[in-house]
Amino acid sequence: MSTVKSMRMLGNSNRGLSPSQKRLLYRTCILPIATYSFQLWYFKGAPVHYSLKDLRKMQRRAALWITGAFRTSPTWGIEAIAGLIPIHLHLNKLGGRHNLRTASLPRQHAIRTLLDPQHSKSASPHRMATSQLTPKQNIRLKSPIVDINYRLNETLPAFDNLNGELRPGQRLVDLFPDRFSFITVKRSDPIARVAHLRKLDEVYCMSQNEENTALVIADAGGKNNIATSVAHVHRGHSITKRTLHQAMNVLPTEAELFSIRCGINQAISTPGVNRVIIITDAIHAAEKIFDTSCHPLQLHTIAISRELKCFFQENPANHIEFWDCPSKDKWPPHHAADKETKSQSTRPLYPSQVSWDLSRKDECDSYIRTWQMYFQASDYKGKQFLDLNDDDETIAPTYTKGGAWLKHVGRSNTLTARITRLITNHAPTGEYRKQFFPNEPYACLCQKAPIETRHHILHECERYKQSWNPLLAPSTIS
Ligand SMILES: [Zn+2]
Repeated sequence: MSTVKSMRMLGNSNRGLSPSQKRLLYRTCILPIATYSFQLWYFKGAPVHYSLKDLRKMQRRAALWITGAFRTSPTWGIEAIAGLIPIHLHLNKLGGRHNLRTASLPRQHAIRTLLDPQHSKSASPHRMATSQLTPKQNIRLKSPIVDINYRLNETLPAFDNLNGELRPGQRLVDLFPDRFSFITVKRSDPIARVAHLRKLDEVYCMSQNEENTALVIADAGGKNNIATSVAHVHRGHSITKRTLHQAMNVLPTEAELFSIRCGINQAISTPGVNRVIIITDAIHAAEKIFDTSCHPLQLHTIAISRELKCFFQENPANHIEFWDCPSKDKWPPHHAADKETKSQSTRPLYPSQVSWDLSRKDECDSYIRTWQMYFQASDYKGKQFLDLNDDDETIAPTYTKGGAWLKHVGRSNTLTARITRLITNHAPTGEYRKQFFPNEPYACLCQKAPIETRHHILHECERYKQSWNPLLAPSTIS
């Protein structure tokens, strides 16, 4: 709180840092300190009312500082304009991410010993572990560990950080750095794309005449929450193998990587193949195969690495190439696989576990939706909050891309302050004075309105005719 107070010396509603910079400063320098180790006190069933009260106060002060609004302005309204999600939703999001991130901990980690047996990864349980408690104690228990157990029950396994395939010295990039290559194209350059398509044609024709080459077209598509992964293995002039797999609740990148995994598996298991060519429109997914950092596609990476290692060890001439093929270019062999993925229309019949990264994405989306829903439905934003339109849609609050309102006006302190005061109707007008300072005059100086309201200023008042006002004179915009 004291840091937020002292930040006021860095700028006000007239000068100093711009509102976008103030917002960045608050999100990067204040919030992480204020919410440090909040998981210890913020979990399901914990009494958090008083702690949240302080954090709400802190965020309100920051929102007032960013927007330059009056102190009487409604909290939800100014938070939305400043692009700050309400603090309890922010903590929910961070808490959910923390619970999910536990899945990436190695099996020797102390937290693993406190979890249920299915998540402890064979670590010997601590005497306070949830598995060591009686059923009655387990029902009564409220703790971050319980939340982690619930969260991990809903998600599919994704990490194996300490697997031997990822050990330095044992990785593909260390052992066979010259056996794989990526041929990419700059997608924003149409001339480069045409040249690349020509190269794809050449490599396709060449693969038809070379007996030791297997060409794999891999693609994936999604519909109704079901991803379809398709891989076609071409040898000579025909497709020798086709694979089609469907998976529920996964992100497109994972489905694409799985189609590449199937294609590689089928191609290298074919006798007499020395050269494998993978053609995919998700080259970023293929690059994950050689990415040994901690990422949620590790299990696929490990499986593919293991197979490729065997393939490379068999013969020094064995190698693999990954070709980028943007699906919008509709290169015929790839377009055929693309159509096959789109022709599948299966509907999920029963609920299932969710992949790790989809779970994380869904959580963020759901908190933004919750915020927008409460914002529209409740009066916390202020009864006189002015809804504005952007591309014929009412602007809804969000914290992405600099905030819904702030991204348009965030470079100027005065403009942000004026816009905020206009939207919340907490501005130096007669209407505001009548509510908060009833002893002061509140009639408009043009003598035509007994109360100087926002509507009068925007639509009727003669005094503002010379100013730029699109509602009064749209043709006079300069
Ligand atoms: Zn007037």
